[in-house]
Amino acid sequence: MSGIVVSVAIDAPRHAGLESTLSYTSERPLAPGTLVHVPLGRRQTAGIVWAGDADGPTTESALKTVTEVCDAIAGLAPEWCALVGFAASYYQRGIGEVALSALPAELRRLANPALASRVARLARHSAALGEAPARHEEEAPPKLSPAQAETAERIASLLRADVPGTVLLHGATGSGKTEIYLRATAATLDRGMKALVLVPEISLTPQLVGRFVARFPDRRVVTLHSGLTPAARLRHWLLAHTGHADIVLGTRLAVFASISRLGLIVVDEEHDPSYKQQEGARYSARDLAVWRGRHEAALVVLGSATPSLESWQRAETGNYMRLAMPDRIGGASWPTVRLVDMNRLPRRREMEAGLAPALVAALQQRIARGEQSLIFLNRRGYAPVLHCAECGWKSACPHCSAWRVFHKLDRTLRCHHCGLAEAVPRACPDCGNPDIAPIGRGTERLEEQLGSLLPGARIARIDADSTRKKGALEAQLGAVHDGSVDVLVGTQMIAKGHDFRRISLVAAVNPDTSLFSSDFRAPERLFALLMQAAGRAGRAAEGVGPSEMWVQTWHPAHPLYAALAQNDFAAFAATQLKERAIAGLPPYSHLAVLRTEAKTAQAARAFLSAAAECAAGLAQAGEVMVYAPVPLGIARVADVERMQMLVESASRQALQAMLRAWMPLLHALRVERKAPEQRILRWAVDVDPLTI
Ligand code: ADP
Ligand code: ZN
Ligand code: ZN
Repeated sequence: MSGIVVSVAIDAPRHAGLESTLSYTSERPLAPGTLVHVPLGRRQTAGIVWAGDADGPTTESALKTVTEVCDAIAGLAPEWCALVGFAASYYQRGIGEVALSALPAELRRLANPALASRVARLARHSAALGEAPARHEEEAPPKLSPAQAETAERIASLLRADVPGTVLLHGATGSGKTEIYLRATAATLDRGMKALVLVPEISLTPQLVGRFVARFPDRRVVTLHSGLTPAARLRHWLLAHTGHADIVLGTRLAVFASISRLGLIVVDEEHDPSYKQQEGARYSARDLAVWRGRHEAALVVLGSATPSLESWQRAETGNYMRLAMPDRIGGASWPTVRLVDMNRLPRRREMEAGLAPALVAALQQRIARGEQSLIFLNRRGYAPVLHCAECGWKSACPHCSAWRVFHKLDRTLRCHHCGLAEAVPRACPDCGNPDIAPIGRGTERLEEQLGSLLPGARIARIDADSTRKKGALEAQLGAVHDGSVDVLVGTQMIAKGHDFRRISLVAAVNPDTSLFSSDFRAPERLFALLMQAAGRAGRAAEGVGPSEMWVQTWHPAHPLYAALAQNDFAAFAATQLKERAIAGLPPYSHLAVLRTEAKTAQAARAFLSAAAECAAGLAQAGEVMVYAPVPLGIARVADVERMQMLVESASRQALQAMLRAWMPLLHALRVERKAPEQRILRWAVDVDPLTI
């Protein structure tokens, strides 16, 4: 069999001994980026013709032939292939895995004729596809505030530059960042370029899609996110790929959208952890957006009221241009922050409810004035653990190293890690004592406590339990909006995005736990959450009194709370960055973790120890520090032991070189272990991990 040898990226499992680009023969030359179908073992699989040499057999006679060339669509652009190549190499995954998982499943599945008919249909109906305007009236752009006008002007001039760079838009909650995104998009479209807008979660930002559609009624807006049906995902992807879409709005996976003439990438809420993929290729869509922008000469706008410290530091050093919009539209002021020193409260009866009397009085006042309050507690269920005072029994999960949470409403003990749910025992399972009692408090209990402290008040709760049914969240938010709720209790779900108008009091009743967490990013996340929660207050409509944010804390002197009270992100960032510099943590060092899961802790540890031994022999060993294996915070979940090992270097290049050399050794290690008790179930490297 003769033909031209092409290298094809395929999504092949590496542990099966396959590399992710393989050589095939083809009757005609195929340009890199061409979508093809090729045989792999006994099955057919989708692949992408890749530039460069492939691994695997090289003698032509041993090669299989490309089965089908999907030329109904243009091949993927070299820029797209470069992005995928970079992501694969940086996050230590196979090129084929990253490339194929970045494409809609339908695109990989369809044969060329079927694909051709989809494309033809798309061309016929392209005007009617994409996101339909929700409201028909076209949205007239508002007059910009002075801060917005200045920001929009700076961005417009960057858009005209040859090397537009990256902007960190540090804008307070309610400062009108969305309007800046809209203006930047308009300027981009005017230049005949396309815009990509990334958001953390589409379900939390349906208004955003609506605003883009309303602002650009004669342009095509498409969305890309995991909630689309396979057919819609393919349609939207094709609209972007064929250039029919002008604006692509999506979640992290949209960073891989095939868009040519990309002029602008917006990353809204750039600090949001959901930009980091937590499985497979553990990429950061924000970081890839910055890379993509640089590579394709597109302006990148990272927007946040509480930027990640990584981005903040890059703005400090001048790598990013910082543009600030500190004031809210309409002049709404920052709420007065009241820190309740829990050390100084009398241990009276009402304190058993864990609510300061002054806070309860403030809530009563709001109710009397017809205003709303929002109380925030990041723990769902009634109580995190049940306890027997006679024998010391606690509601441990038999499959996890965690307590089962007491849910009073359906009288269950539920493990939030493996999902095990059982009826609450009538008496202590160990000693028969009928008096088993809840310890601590979750949102259910807080709701109950508020009910007895505020008789007659209309109290609602929003958390993962209350919103399980489809449409429940919308209904509950609707009730808050139309004023039929006085006090809203909830987890971080209520701190995000929602634009409540009658809230004049926000309280965090137990935020301290994050201050002393072993995760060095916990304070950063807490600060972002509290700032966001505070941002819910004081957007208030006319006739609503001055707004307040209450924080119950045992550490009122903590600099984090001082910065919150001053609405001073810069001060918070400065103290955090100083601590990180001293401790040698990101952004002053670069991290990766090797995580592994096994049936026994010994097997997990043995794998990591062997991995550490391999690492010690590598050329970069001197520049890269490999720490001892440690169990994850919750070591066992569903009878699987989880352990990890931290790898750190002051040099990103050294870390990358070390990981590249290490990966094949790790793949080989896994193959070596054969005895079942020694076997590990999974391992993965996470580069730039968000949690350690
Ligand atoms: P952010 O995203 O910064 O939190 P938004 O973009 O949601 O803020 O804007 C807050 C509110 O201010 C929105 O209701 C928005 O419609 C309104 N807004 C923004 N810019 C203007 C403007 N120039 N004039 C009037 N209202 C504006
Ligand atoms: Zn007991
Ligand atoms: Zn469990």
